[in-house]
Amino acid sequence: MGKEMGKEQALLPSPETYLARERPDDPVFFFCPMRLGQVAARFLDGFPGLVTYAVKANPSPEMIEGLVALGLRSFDVASPAEMALVRAHCPDAVLHYHNPVRSGAEVAEGLTQGCTSWSVDRLSELEKLSGLPEGTEIAVRLKLPVPGAAYDFGAKFGAEPAGAVALLKRVVEMGLTPSLTFHPGTQCRSGAAWERYIEASAEVARQAGVRLHRLNVGGGFPSDRGEGRADLEAIFAAIAHAVEAHFDEAPQLVCEPGRALSAEAFMLALRVKAVERDAVFLNDGIYGGMAEWRDMGSMQRLRVVTTVGLPRGGEMAPRIVFGPTCDSIDRLPDPLPLPVTLAEGDYLVFEGMGAYSRSLVTGFNGYGAKRVVQMTAAG
Ligand SMILES: *Cc1c(COP(=O)(O)O)cnc(C)c1O
Repeated sequence: MGKEMGKEQALLPSPETYLARERPDDPVFFFCPMRLGQVAARFLDGFPGLVTYAVKANPSPEMIEGLVALGLRSFDVASPAEMALVRAHCPDAVLHYHNPVRSGAEVAEGLTQGCTSWSVDRLSELEKLSGLPEGTEIAVRLKLPVPGAAYDFGAKFGAEPAGAVALLKRVVEMGLTPSLTFHPGTQCRSGAAWERYIEASAEVARQAGVRLHRLNVGGGFPSDRGEGRADLEAIFAAIAHAVEAHFDEAPQLVCEPGRALSAEAFMLALRVKAVERDAVFLNDGIYGGMAEWRDMGSMQRLRVVTTVGLPRGGEMAPRIVFGPTCDSIDRLPDPLPLPVTLAEGDYLVFEGMGAYSRSLVTGFNGYGAKRVVQMTAAG
């Protein structure tokens, strides 16, 4: 099959087998359907409500098709292009259009595509939605100052509690169906941020005198970036408990994970182009699959593999890591501990690389990971 792009089906037990056989000089994503199935089951079985997938985290066909095959039918989309993408793989998908600022043309496209839930965070944007069919769900997006996330999601979108109260009242006046939504911030490792948001949501609904149809608790669920397996079940339990504690009549719950649903589904193998005593040059960097590491820090789950597919271990030392482009900012935010005997041609295999990685590859300077190999046996 073509090596430049697209899918290669590989009946392989591990990336090592593929790397030793093909010796790819370009970066390779490995899609692991089994791992996708495992994490999807944790959400679908464990979350006490509807699970939707935030497409922006990883819009690969493998992800969308994989989730549809596992029974997920509802998607959080932010643009007409994401709507079309989801519809192409799942014609009867439920689409939640949760980007609170839209051009007139985008509103029209959302209507044509049959989006069933629309988020808003300001009155001017709500008024743009006056042509929606009566009873359409409007999810008012609430923001609070909440610590605990890798970075602040309230910095761009969301209405403060008083604004959210006014918006909910106006939604009802317009004959639309009132819901609330929030996003606690990405990579929240405990349930504390959700608990605060749920308590505030109940208060906002009370002040508006509105019974919420649904409460969408956003994304923000953590993946394992080296701290250990995330305790999603503890967060689900905290959410269920907070809803019970703060609402007299509990709204139905919705979540929209991106990172946590997609991270485990892909690994990324990079090749060492050159080694110096204190530095190493790789064939991908911050303009490619590692774009978000500048904000999030480097992924700590990696192993080093030789050209014949054997593990390289031994004594480790930190090295500065440069990407392949000619831009001097193309270096990882922190040094990586790598084997002292690291050699040119070795591979670095990173796990948990499904989220905000493929979706952010730029192609700058002609680089950027394009190849996806599908693992079918294990992984
Ligand atoms: C990005 C985004 C998500 C997904 O966030 P994760 O932190 O990746 O889970 C969910 N909902 C909205 C509205 C978003 O913008």
